[in-house]
Amino acid sequence: MKKILIIGGGFAGLTAAKGLGNLKDAEVTLIDRSNYHLFQPLLYQVAMAGLSPAEIAVPLRSILSKYKNIRILQGEALSVAPDEKVVTTTIGRFDYDTLILACGALHAYFGNEHWEADAPGLKTLEQATEIRRRVLSAFEKAEAESDPEEKSRHLTFIIVGGGPTGVELAGALGELSRHTLAQDFKNIDPTLARVILIESGPRILPSFSEPIARKAARSLEHLGVEIWTAKRVTCVDDTGIEMGQEKLPAATVIWAAGIRAARLLTGLDVKTDAQGRVLVSPDLSLEEHPEIFVAGDQAGLSDDQGNPLPGIAPVAQQQGEYLARTIRGNIEGKPGKPFHYADRGQLATIGRSRAVLEYGWLKLSGFPAWFLWVIIHIYFLIGFQNRLFVILRWASSYLSFRRGARLVVNKSWRSYPDGDAVPPGHTKSYNRNGS
Ligand SMILES: Cc1cc2nc3c(=O)[nH]c(=O)nc-3n(C[C@H](O)[C@H](O)[C@H](O)COP(=O)(O)OP(=O)(O)OC[C@H]3O[C@@H](n4cnc5c(N)ncnc54)[C@H](O)[C@@H]3O)c2cc1C
Repeated sequence: MKKILIIGGGFAGLTAAKGLGNLKDAEVTLIDRSNYHLFQPLLYQVAMAGLSPAEIAVPLRSILSKYKNIRILQGEALSVAPDEKVVTTTIGRFDYDTLILACGALHAYFGNEHWEADAPGLKTLEQATEIRRRVLSAFEKAEAESDPEEKSRHLTFIIVGGGPTGVELAGALGELSRHTLAQDFKNIDPTLARVILIESGPRILPSFSEPIARKAARSLEHLGVEIWTAKRVTCVDDTGIEMGQEKLPAATVIWAAGIRAARLLTGLDVKTDAQGRVLVSPDLSLEEHPEIFVAGDQAGLSDDQGNPLPGIAPVAQQQGEYLARTIRGNIEGKPGKPFHYADRGQLATIGRSRAVLEYGWLKLSGFPAWFLWVIIHIYFLIGFQNRLFVILRWASSYLSFRRGARLVVNKSWRSYPDGDAVPPGHTKSYNRNGS
């Protein structure tokens, strides 16, 4: 019986596991630090109060329950001992015949990791709900504030990084302030909130063609977003940001400026590219250890023209499918072929009803691109039993301009046995009889 160990239940690891499901003579163990698979492309909807966390995450157990040979465990992998073929995790040691590492990516602050506290990135559900808390709290604080300068600081939102995630966040935030919250406050006018998208390069969406990026910029400006290009952030703290001599006060800063591969488990001596991605052989294996494969955002591989493959879901999914095929082939003694990526194009949505899309010669913007974006994302919500619910939620917020998940949930709270909760800094008198 072959032991196949998969670390990470994201797009790459989950797809590989499914492809190995019910494989005879193979015992698959999937370990992830979360007990769910997260649909990251919709994280910005959670951050901007459009969807609830449960609508974009689904327990790994429920997706894989039909496969008898797959065991799912929640734990964090810490190190690999390739000579012993053992992975050490927070829940014990696991030996393997074949190992797939698919741990994804993290945010890069380019040596300024301490900025993270004041400028969180968007990669996990925890970060998305924290960003939602900060954004909604900023409007609440502005409503209660009498000092005009402080009010303006609360109503200034900065997004650092003009790639697809920054653009999607800026569009959703522009729309939230201009439309969704417009009627909700008495002392402030949410439509006067400033949403500023800062990009260090000469234009936003550098991976898209120039005409399409220009259309995206126009759509953002239509939603009231200010786009500042060729500006490099040099400092972030709890009062705002600095760009050289220029200071910009803001209560909410969101980081979307760069990613690096998840830190590799200690114990492996491998070459990485500038973003920390493990340089793999054309079959995604490690040169020194052909029984170890790396896939998805954690892997560094180039296409036939020598361009590094982008860190996007289709690459991770295709690599997961490829690895399942390769491992099945290895067991049956069939020779493997190198991995080849079938380009699925790129997409970014802007607000409620616009997007930009590039797929080969096809370049679309505005509503047609947004409509295709919706179809594609619904299709890819694989295994999500609540797919219909998500569509209905979208449809209703599209028609009504309302947002359902606008709750400010405090980071920490004390709970009392009667189920009551008290926010930090507040106390409640309580006796043991519960009265
Ligand atoms: C906000 C945002 C928006 C995006 N939008 C799009 C989009 O519109 N289209 C698109 O194609 N792509 C998009 N992407 C990129 C896409 O989500 C990633 O390329 C894709 O998720 C990569 O898949 P993966 O399997 O490599 O990693 P992930 O999906 O990140 O999965 C990694 C998994 O590994 C687990 N893990 C990590 N370290 C450990 C450890 N040490 N031990 C155990 N488990 C571990 C994590 O919990 C996670 O479940 C977006 C990403 C983000 C963050």
